Amino acid sequence: MTREKTRAGKHLSELLMNAYMGIHGRAAEGAFVVWGAIIVPPEIFRGFENVVLCVPESHAALCAGKGVGSEECLKAEALGYSMDLCSYARIDIGSLSDGYQDSPTFGLPRPDLLVSDNNNCSLLVKWFDVHRREMGVPHFILDVPFCYGPQQEKDLAYILSQFRDLIAMVESMTGETFDEGRFREAAHHTAEGVRQWKRFMSFARHRPSGLTVFDSFVQMAPLFTSRGTPEFAEHYKLLADEVAERVAAGVFPVPNEKYRLLWDNIAPWHQLRKMSERLAELGANIVAAPYTSCIGSLEGSFAPFDLDKDTDPLWHLARSQNHSVCPMGMDLRLAALGSAIEEVGIDGVVFASNRSCKVFSVMQMDEQRLIGEKYGLPTVMIDVDHADVRKFSEQSAYLRLEALLENIEAGRVG
Ligand code: SF4
Repeated sequence: MTREKTRAGKHLSELLMNAYMGIHGRAAEGAFVVWGAIIVPPEIFRGFENVVLCVPESHAALCAGKGVGSEECLKAEALGYSMDLCSYARIDIGSLSDGYQDSPTFGLPRPDLLVSDNNNCSLLVKWFDVHRREMGVPHFILDVPFCYGPQQEKDLAYILSQFRDLIAMVESMTGETFDEGRFREAAHHTAEGVRQWKRFMSFARHRPSGLTVFDSFVQMAPLFTSRGTPEFAEHYKLLADEVAERVAAGVFPVPNEKYRLLWDNIAPWHQLRKMSERLAELGANIVAAPYTSCIGSLEGSFAPFDLDKDTDPLWHLARSQNHSVCPMGMDLRLAALGSAIEEVGIDGVVFASNRSCKVFSVMQMDEQRLIGEKYGLPTVMIDVDHADVRKFSEQSAYLRLEALLENIEAGRVG
């Protein structure tokens, strides 16, 4: 079953193309270019008129989605980088190495400043440091304390102080003064977009679901290219409105939905269409994944944390830096997974053990056991790599996925 492109799908392509081309254009005109990690808040840079932000991880995901992930990885491996390193890092380093010849976005403009964080993983810091060494540009590292429980006041104050240091550093490098008004406006565009994003994701609760997780994965891209702009909020409103219309009209991506599944890990970017179609043929729909709501959520929760009009946006960004996946201990990870299971209504869980993202995958065997015990749900572990298709075996993955569906069915009959 092949689905036609939706209005929001077409709008997404335009939004992304405009975002990437816009950045190239602004850089060519002399804008100050920051390369930031996905968790680094873009709204901070929107507080400057002449600063643009690029997100290498998002560019790497796009390369993988367009089918050139492994090709780019090979280029990095030819330079001596191990195949065991994260495929986002290999794609980024590989695509840069030949001047972005195969990039779907003509690559990224050369950075003036690198900003990484260690609340994803330490590999990311080392990866950005490769660029610091090679390109001779400064590298600011956000140090975000790991969480085993709710974020502590001292950690919040520590993150806030680093945001202020980052702002001061950009001011001194650009000569431009941070504009609090521009920043606040950007934060409120983001907040409105995130409200619409949550509205969109709420249709996963409908039976049959109004969306598949693959729709959500694809639609995450503006979170990394367009946050803080009016277009960001407009796009997610269009997306949520369209899904609402389809649900009201009885149009569902998997109309014969028999099995509602949860996905635990990063999206398998090279498999989105194939996996969604193959599962739909079996009456199975992966309806949700904590990954799609991880940016901007609080420790242990599934939904992004709303910004209200009276809250200081910088405080809000610092409060939501310990998003729901990598920088959290087991109890919090389980709480986030449990909320997704309870809120959305799930029949089985797919733990996707990711050869690239060890930090996401390292707890999954325990999580699988504990979720099985607590919820009595069938689960399965499959091997994937989010961006390097060479580390994914279709045959073995579908064998296990089909076994999961059989287990769910057996539980119903029993
Ligand atoms: S290893 Fe995981 S957290 Fe680290 S950069 Fe890669 S995908 Fe992100």
